[in-house]
Amino acid sequence: MAVPFRRVSKTVKRKRRTHDKLSAPAVVVCPECGEYKLSHKVCKHCGTYKGQKVL
Ligand SMILES: [Zn+2]
Repeated sequence: MAVPFRRVSKTVKRKRRTHDKLSAPAVVVCPECGEYKLSHKVCKHCGTYKGQKVL
């Protein structure tokens, strides 16, 4: 909800923004080629997922 910014105290604003941080991407090592890849995604390097060639 839009509130004029002076109505929100520094403390309230900062407390709200403690939830704004980004989480690090889930990176794992590919079991097929050993390259880093995103977890639960097809490996861009060798094109496999769960040991099967999909690309
Ligand atoms: Zn791979």
